[in-house]
Order: sequence, then C-alpha cells, then structure tokens
Amino acid sequence: MSFDALWAALEPLGRDRRTGGYRRYAWTSVDRELREWFAAEARARGLDVVRDRAGNQWAWWGSPSADRPGVVVGSHLDSVPDGGAYDGPLGVVSGFCALDVLRSRGFAPDRPVGVACFGDEEGARFGVACAGSRLLTGALPADRGLALTDADGVTMAAALTRAGVAPAEVGRDAEALARVGTFVELHLEQGRGLAELGRPVAVGSSIWAHGRWRLDLPGEANHAGTTRLADRRDPMLALADGILAARRAAEDRGGVATVGKVAVTPNGVNAIPSSVTAWLDARGPATAAVVAAVGAAAGVEPVEESFTPDTRFDPELVARLSGLLGDAPVLGTGAGHDAGILAAAGVPAAMLFVRNPTGVSHSPAEHAERDDCLAGIDALAAVIADLASERASERASDRASDRTR
Ligand SMILES: [Zn+2]
Repeated sequence: MSFDALWAALEPLGRDRRTGGYRRYAWTSVDRELREWFAAEARARGLDVVRDRAGNQWAWWGSPSADRPGVVVGSHLDSVPDGGAYDGPLGVVSGFCALDVLRSRGFAPDRPVGVACFGDEEGARFGVACAGSRLLTGALPADRGLALTDADGVTMAAALTRAGVAPAEVGRDAEALARVGTFVELHLEQGRGLAELGRPVAVGSSIWAHGRWRLDLPGEANHAGTTRLADRRDPMLALADGILAARRAAEDRGGVATVGKVAVTPNGVNAIPSSVTAWLDARGPATAAVVAAVGAAAGVEPVEESFTPDTRFDPELVARLSGLLGDAPVLGTGAGHDAGILAAAGVPAAMLFVRNPTGVSHSPAEHAERDDCLAGIDALAAVIADLASERASERASDRASDRTR
C-alpha cells in the first residue's frame, strides 16, 4: 500500500529527537527537503510539478487552464513548533494515494486533477497563518508578507532569497488560482466530533472566524524583592487580567481565546518585567465572538497580525460530498485552513476530516488510526472520481445556468 511507504519516508523529516514533535518551518532546510519529497513523489507518478508566485507547489495530472480548471486536493507539510505528524501531511499523502487508487482502477478523469502543497500554512516562522494561500489570493499583499520577520529578525524576503526564490516574483497569482475548479482539503480532525459519532470521515461545513493579535504591555524594570507592591508597574499583571477577560468574553459568545506565546523583557526570575509582549489567538463561530475577546484582552491597543472572518464552504458541494460518502457527518471547525482562504477568494472548496481518537493536535501526541487514514483515502478517491467526471461538470454547469435563469 502506497500509504505506508509515503508515511515512512516523511516521518523522519524535521522531527526533533528529544520531543518527538515536528519543527517544519517555512523556507528552512527542512522545508526544502519536504518540497523535494513532494516534487519527487509527483514526478514518480508522471505529474507535472509547478510552483506558483506564492511558493505553493502543484502536481498536475492533465493540463489545467482557466477554461478547463481542475479538481485539486492536498494540504500542507509545514508544522507548528513540536507539531504532530498528521496535521497537513495526511492531506498531501492522501492526495497522492487517492490518485494511486483511481489509477489502479483504470479511472480516466475528464478534467485535470491536481495535488497541492501549500507553503507556510501554520505561520510558525513569520506569524501569519496560511501565508502561502493568502499570498496566492492576495489576501496577504506581497509587500506586507515579504516584510514579516522571524524570531531572529530574518525577513520573509531574505528567507525566500536564501531558498532560491526571488522576492520580486512573489505576489497574487490569478493564473494559478484560475486553474483550480474545486479544492477539497483532507485534514485530520482537530477535535473529537468524529470519535463521538463513531465515524471515520466527515465533511467540513465551515471555518470559524479566527485571528492573531500582538499585545505590547509596557512596565518598569525593578528589583523583585525590594520594590514595594504599591510602587510597581508590572505588565505581567495587566497581561494576566487581559488573558482572563479575553477568555470570558470569548466563552460568552461560544468562542475560544488563547495566549500561548509570551516574550518577557528582561526575562529574569527576580526582576519585574520592563515589558511583556503576548500573542492572543481568538476564534469563534462568528466574528462577534472574536471582536469581543480582542476588545477585552488588554488595556493596550492590540496589533492585528491576521484575521479571517468565518467562512462557509459551498453548501451544494458540502451536501453532495456528504451524500457521496454515505451521509457522512458534516462538521464545522475552529482551525484555519488553506481551503478556507481559497473559499473566501471565491473558489468552490470543501474539506474532509479524518477521525482523531483523542482530538489532540498541534502536539507530538496527535494521532489517527491507520484504518481511518485508509478510509480517508477511499473517501478522497470517491470525491475526485465524482468531481472529475463529465457528469459532475454537467451538473455544475446546470447549476450555473439555473442561477442565471
Ligand atoms: Zn493543518
């Protein structure tokens, strides 16, 4: 089975021996190895590999064009710090495996079929999630993206140059977008929805509104032992109040708020901080929950690093995929995905989720059972077979003419 071989080849790339987690960050040497792996697997299948102006990779079976756009599956290969093996790679590996399944059955698509690998989805290095798909659609303007810096002060432009990509080439790529007729991203579920339902595969209905804000809290450095409490300007206390307030505001509206990254200056055990910078991640089923959490966060002006309103996937496509997969459950998600960025840009898009027995993700403990991964591949193959056949194209054009009538 090609799944086991592909999984085994990817497994060691970017894994930290000490934690067992993955550190696959955009435009690093590990990222280059992952991109080379993707290109090699695509070429081994006789697919054409192209890179768009945003650095995303596309492997095409057939020649797509604006007049004959393709059915695209895939996901991303980068990770959060100490991420798991499945978030992202499962979608890319399943894409290749689904093509293998279809070809072994002698399936000949009527439309081009592509496997995509989006770059910098987690935003672990430069702070903007889905940077590859946002640059592609123009949701992240090139000048803003190129100026982003990593923790060492390296700009995205410099990182691209080091990786052999000319920053001047980077920008919205309307041609690459026009080649995508439909995008279906298979992804490990990041919750326990399927585990509770006892089903292996679901169809995604929507992505919550989500964003990241930087909170800069100034204070005054002083001795932790000799400074009277009344005389202190301690930014850590203001941050603590802000975190609790954001969480309460999000909770009241069915959302979530998290501070998972803090930079403390000077970062000494026996010193009151002179300043604290924290990053707030806020999400909710609607934009209002996010706005409330950010508003409650702190007495300083939060600096928006990224924000995406809630995104509904094409309802007809969602219903069709659910029916095709034996009335698969339809679930929303609090996680952002490239499929959401493409949907927001007007591309018909949907997602498939594969059961996550514990619901844990963004952690080395992230897991999916092999049988569920294989069920995901079968589901993806069925989806491609349906969307890439003439019948499907006819139905889509019927729908388009229904709308114009
Ligand atoms: Zn992901």
